[in-house]
Amino acid sequence: MQYGCVLRVSDLIRPDLQGLPQYAAQRARTGILLDANESPYGERDLNRYPDPEHAGLHAAMAAYYGVPSVCVLATRGSDDGIDALGRAFLRPGQDAVMITPPTFSMFAIFARLQNAGVVEVPLTEQFEFDARAMTASWFEGVKLVYVCSPNNPTGSVMPLEVLQGLCAAMAGKALVVVDEAYQEFSAQPSALTLLQAVPNLVVLRTLSKAFGLAGIRCGALLASADIVQWVRRVLPPYLLPTPVVDIALNALTEESIELMRVRCTDIVARRDAFASVAKGFSGVEQVLNGHANSVLLRFRDVRRAQQCLRDDGIHVRGFDGQLADWLRISIGTEEEMSRAQAALR
Ligand code: PMP
Repeated sequence: MQYGCVLRVSDLIRPDLQGLPQYAAQRARTGILLDANESPYGERDLNRYPDPEHAGLHAAMAAYYGVPSVCVLATRGSDDGIDALGRAFLRPGQDAVMITPPTFSMFAIFARLQNAGVVEVPLTEQFEFDARAMTASWFEGVKLVYVCSPNNPTGSVMPLEVLQGLCAAMAGKALVVVDEAYQEFSAQPSALTLLQAVPNLVVLRTLSKAFGLAGIRCGALLASADIVQWVRRVLPPYLLPTPVVDIALNALTEESIELMRVRCTDIVARRDAFASVAKGFSGVEQVLNGHANSVLLRFRDVRRAQQCLRDDGIHVRGFDGQLADWLRISIGTEEEMSRAQAALR
């Protein structure tokens, strides 16, 4: 793959950010700490600000994701990474993002909050990514190309060689941002395997899904050290609360990672079983079983299906527009899925 044009992140970053000094959160870690206007009173060190570098967490994430620490930026969930990318790269009123609907809604919402444009290159009728159409649809000012793989809500994945081609086509023009929130549920290798070789690639990961930690709001943006340094500038200092860091560090121990993997295997097995049973339901017209922790079902009468589920206290996700006849069902426990099956039957 040719990267004829060396990526200079400074060419893509919002020009008005270039002179912005980064808040220097310097603080001593030992001795008598009178340097940060903290209270001397507190429990479990919570009177102290967190380590502004989050060095321990970055090291643990680097080990889990298999990239150098300098390529890791811990965030308040991947939503925070999407928001920060928009604020770092999109000039209000001028730049745009590219998205592939139907996909995760926050790519467009954060772009619009930045007063940036949204270019839509829909998935194909088979819900596959159309990298050729994406490349053809790029124009000057499209700075961030979002690839949600596995995609929410379709579970579609972009094969790595296609992703590599897309990154090459966007070299020097845009960052390709791969949202891998559901990666642990997929057998396809992560885009992180390309990170060292592909300078315009950004990967977003999260502890919200496979690790079962949506409540702590913790994720990671993984990219070249250069991109990481720029994105850091638009985030507040002392980003993550100390209890969040502690819980995340515990989740990233070998033992917890092993447990997470066992749970993912269970969820994937249950997802496949649920998808194959759902194919037999008379009201179900199509079943889309992708690479995430959910399945997408198209119903003859979607309202009735949703009502049947609701009558049994089961909440699933409905949609407007293109997916108006579909419901997305997240994979829960064995018991929860039996209840959902019974309600749908
Ligand atoms: N990306 C995708 C594709 C998602 O589906 C979600 C949550 N539904 C997020 C990001 C947000 O994740 P987080 O909890 O890490 O902010």
